[in-house]
Amino acid sequence: MSSSEQTFIAIKPDGVQRGLIGPILTRFENRGFKLVAIKLITASKEHLEKHYEDLSSKPFFPGLVSYMASGPICAMIWEGRDAVKTGRSILGATNPKDSLPGTIRGDFAIDVGRNVCHGSDSVDNAKKEIKLWFKDDELVQWKPAQFDWVYEKA
Ligand code: GDP
Ligand code: MG
Repeated sequence: MSSSEQTFIAIKPDGVQRGLIGPILTRFENRGFKLVAIKLITASKEHLEKHYEDLSSKPFFPGLVSYMASGPICAMIWEGRDAVKTGRSILGATNPKDSLPGTIRGDFAIDVGRNVCHGSDSVDNAKKEIKLWFKDDELVQWKPAQFDWVYEKA
């Protein structure tokens, strides 16, 4: 029940190009999560091959890596209770055709190969992804003014 669980969330190149950084950030802010790190980064193919290494045998892997390397990504760390699981539910299903309205993919995407955002799928993978995308000194420690209004107990 820790309020300090962290997840790696990224707005993919299509989301950045389509001007969706603001709307996506707002969903996490409005829910009550805390932004711990954020940067715009154009990732190398090598970096993305590592990020998606579990999918390397999939037929869509080369296309996925090219898509993700095609422009800047907005990489973020969000923190809060159940941030990983709730982050995934804010994103919606992997394939936007199955994502419910109200989710990011359900509201902003159509094609699985252009699904706008990434979110860690487990606490262990969140830790790995945060290490891969951020240096320790890029994480900011702070207490949001709303913290004691979001949580009954920290
Ligand atoms: P996620 O954790 O919900 O992002 O889904 P996965 O980890 O299974 O896949 C990573 C990313 O690969 C997805 O977000 C999609 O962008 C892409 N992807 C997954 N399945 C497919 C597919 O069948 N076709 C294509 N073109 N891309 C896919
Ligand atoms: Mg995944």
